[in-house]
Amino acid sequence: MKLQLNDIRNWLELSNQLMQENRSYLIELDQAIGDSDHGINMARGFQEVITKTQDQNYQTPSDLLKDVAMTLMSKVGGAAGPLYGTAFLKLSMAWKDKNEIQVNDIKEGLQAGLDGIKQRGKATTGEKTMIDVWDPVVQLFKDDENVDPSTIEETAKRAMNDTKELKATKGRASYFKEKSIGHIDPGSASSYYIFSALSTSIKGA
Ligand code: ADP
Ligand code: MG
Repeated sequence: MKLQLNDIRNWLELSNQLMQENRSYLIELDQAIGDSDHGINMARGFQEVITKTQDQNYQTPSDLLKDVAMTLMSKVGGAAGPLYGTAFLKLSMAWKDKNEIQVNDIKEGLQAGLDGIKQRGKATTGEKTMIDVWDPVVQLFKDDENVDPSTIEETAKRAMNDTKELKATKGRASYFKEKSIGHIDPGSASSYYIFSALSTSIKGA
């Protein structure tokens, strides 16, 4: 497992594709326990990421991801924009000056991203947010130094589905209190798409 600049570009393109394909589904999820904008936010933000980065020359994955972070922060909006922006900025910082991203770098980068989301959102595991998908994926890398890429997608998907039973205590969904139970968290779904795309890009690397 080893990622180069073009594999990271592939990851972003696949993420964007999934955001566009699932825009309506993300809107639907946010309609149930939020304000219906998550699909709009994510589809717009990731399209901007591609538009902004596709014709630029970058020296390293870190340089590319810094631009990604800035774009997500300014174009996604809502709660998710600054949170994803922070995650990608931490990833960029963790991979500074590296040309090849090894499995250990992925582990450390995702851990830094998760810590960034937790800090920025003042949230932790079990509060029915995107953290509930990031956390088990990071754990997967910690538990197994030879992670099979398919398990990234599987773990993220299971974790996304598991948010259904949780009660939201952070973000807009927390206003729904007990009524938030029984619905998948929208941010967990968009994080699942990001990890599903990562899984595919690692397989193709
Ligand atoms: P908004 O809630 O402002 O409308 P979005 O709909 O784009 O923003 O994003 C909502 C998602 O953001 C939630 O589903 C959840 O996963 C995530 N989220 C919200 N607040 C937090 C927080 N404090 N920490 C981590 N994630 C959060
Ligand atoms: Mg919303």
